[in-house]
Amino acid sequence: MGRVLIIGAGGVGTVVAHKVAQNADVFTDIMIASRTKSKCDDIVKAIGNPNIKTAKVDADNVKELVDLFNSFKPDIVINVALPYQDLTIMDACLEAGVNYLDTANYEPIDEAKYQYSWQWAYHDRFKEAGLTAILGCGFDPGVTSVYTAYAAKHHFDEIHYLDIVDCNAGDHHKAFATNFNPEINIREITQKGRYYQDGEWVETDPLSIHKPLNYPNVGPKDSYLLYHEELESLVKNFPTLKRARFWMTFGQEYLTHLRVIQNIGMASIEPIMYQGKEIVPIQFLKAVLPNPQELGENYTGETSIGCRIRGIKDGKEQTYYVYNNCSHKAAYEETGMQGVSYTTGVPATIGAIMFLKGIWKKPGVFNVEEFNPDPFMEQLNKQGLPWHEQHNIDLEL
Ligand code: NDP
Repeated sequence: MGRVLIIGAGGVGTVVAHKVAQNADVFTDIMIASRTKSKCDDIVKAIGNPNIKTAKVDADNVKELVDLFNSFKPDIVINVALPYQDLTIMDACLEAGVNYLDTANYEPIDEAKYQYSWQWAYHDRFKEAGLTAILGCGFDPGVTSVYTAYAAKHHFDEIHYLDIVDCNAGDHHKAFATNFNPEINIREITQKGRYYQDGEWVETDPLSIHKPLNYPNVGPKDSYLLYHEELESLVKNFPTLKRARFWMTFGQEYLTHLRVIQNIGMASIEPIMYQGKEIVPIQFLKAVLPNPQELGENYTGETSIGCRIRGIKDGKEQTYYVYNNCSHKAAYEETGMQGVSYTTGVPATIGAIMFLKGIWKKPGVFNVEEFNPDPFMEQLNKQGLPWHEQHNIDLEL
């Protein structure tokens, strides 16, 4: 049905490659390209399908990308490199006439700033070129945005209060490690918190608001209010929202390590001189922390991520909770990666399936909640991320 190019051979790229290969009826030709070609070759070896092609590409370089696109001629690129590469890959897509999908919004390397404006600015150019760009198709953003669209379509006339709740109740048995790229992860968590209320953004000190929330099959976990990028597009696409917030669980041990890392300056993104060479502290820190791709083997427990929504249906107030629980061990047995990479890579693959089947295909740049959620929800159940729902329960929020 279509040719796919996966860019990035990290934890998420590995999962995408496995899932794409499992859906051979949709993805007829597959290539994995990344900065380090040997990592792409290792993934192909692990999958055991020698028909998957690999290539080296520097995704910061538009010309290199265009040359690669022109030689492989993909129908769609799945961008699972880093957020820094989003715009160069979108530029190359426009130049070579290729459709685009990613899992994280663009972020300038020298400024931790999460906003869609840079990518939304490409809308008219993608539209005129007749190309589709699907933004934020991981779990959060991604599945949480589709859950919201599904709830708004089927269970409410108006959604008023949205709380996205993200719990990782897993244990990787390391003193400190991040579950995806440490640089991206620490930049995100150490930012000021932000939530939407009555048409305004309210800013909070980092990790200053928290409360215990009960997660299915997990129990109570202290959950911290963070800013997360899907809030920006969801409040725009669901204007009935009066409040939208994002919560994530952290253990005390994790927070203590994070505080020390910040206090000693290791979370800084400002370059410093070290022995005559410029280095960025957080990039050096990444080099000494455990590699998230190697956490899978001893990872126990599960993730539980979902949306808790309050609104009205037929004039009556309703509550709704939709969520997925994902076992780290089951993810590892299927793909060699832990649950956080799995819950990101599976939705990215489903988004590309939606595009190649012509279901999520419209020229322009769109966030996932702007497409029909139903066929995506159906695929979540088939591709390893089944969802569950509860109606009219106490949302605790
Ligand atoms: P990793 O760091 O494990 O992998 C990133 C990959 O991109 C590596 O293979 C890296 O190459 C490659 N890469 C980096 N820079 C370049 C470049 N200039 N050119 C070519 N390749 C490059 O990250 P993850 O797999 O953990 O995360 C991938 C993406 O998924 C990130 O954007 C992250 O923000 C996003 N994400 C989204 C989530 C969601 O739910 N929406 C959740 C988790 C992650 P090399 O190995 O050589 O360094």
